[in-house]
Amino acid sequence: MTDSSSVNPTASDLAFTRRDARGTIPEPAYAGALSFMRRRYSRDLAGADVAVMGVPYDLAVSGRSGARLGPRAVRAASSHIAWSAPWPWSVDPFERLAVVDTGDVFFDPGYPAAIPAAIADAARAVLASDTALLSLGGDHFITYPLLQAHAERHGPLALIQIDAHSDSWEDEPGRIDHGTMVWHAVREGLIDPAHSAQVGIRTHNPDPLGINVIDARAVHRDGPAAVADQIREIVGDRPCYLSFDIDALDPSVAPGTGTPVIGGLTTFQAQEILRGLEGITLEGMDVVEVAPAYDVSEITALAAATLACGLLCLHAAARR
Ligand code: MN
Ligand code: MN
Repeated sequence: MTDSSSVNPTASDLAFTRRDARGTIPEPAYAGALSFMRRRYSRDLAGADVAVMGVPYDLAVSGRSGARLGPRAVRAASSHIAWSAPWPWSVDPFERLAVVDTGDVFFDPGYPAAIPAAIADAARAVLASDTALLSLGGDHFITYPLLQAHAERHGPLALIQIDAHSDSWEDEPGRIDHGTMVWHAVREGLIDPAHSAQVGIRTHNPDPLGINVIDARAVHRDGPAAVADQIREIVGDRPCYLSFDIDALDPSVAPGTGTPVIGGLTTFQAQEILRGLEGITLEGMDVVEVAPAYDVSEITALAAATLACGLLCLHAAARR
């Protein structure tokens, strides 16, 4: 049932009680267990098209910590939008795809060096069951082990990174840092720089490593539709991974993040860029860097939840 005009009084705690992985059933936004978009919590991925996985990791931040609480904040905020099909997309991912919330990756923060492999292994396990993965961070370092798992399955990926920062600053092999994971990914051939794009950038990096940079000024100057066209031209029909660092948004609309930079995108610009990408072959996706301790009225978490939903729409469109 997708009728938003009434709340079904028998629908409660869909995170536990949902029988059909498809469909949207309104449930009071203020109550119940908080899975992403009220999907069923399940570790059983049989029949699942997409798994949503939290990665509550923030040991790699250079600024303020707190993104470990991002997954639960994004799940909670998603309750505000889980009553209806995502507007105004032509495809409803929850009708087309069986989407489950597979919970969080667990790891021991007392053994920090073992965590990247734990994240990659969790992603591999999902992808091995022929299920696509939407990951909720966590700081942006998590995209590196996630890209490892996706590249093993799909080959080198066209990365679409929406971010205030390039995260491609030079590093040393094995070092864990949320500002260098793209450097590792390029060096290891996980992504194809010539067919990758970084969007919303507004920090210096002298060496973009061959990645196409569409900075924040270009987004404000040319508008989201033109930027989306440019991205689609760059990635073509290659398998894509889209990573959305919430600090791509302006801190006035997304203050809840560790390393805010002013001059960023509005939520509408970000949504329009995603909508303009319909047709890309989106195989993997994440939304990262939500740090709820710095948030106001859940606006950052709500933006992250809505954009994550947009990524599911893009993935569903790719599987048409
Ligand atoms: Mn980033
Ligand atoms: Mn960033």
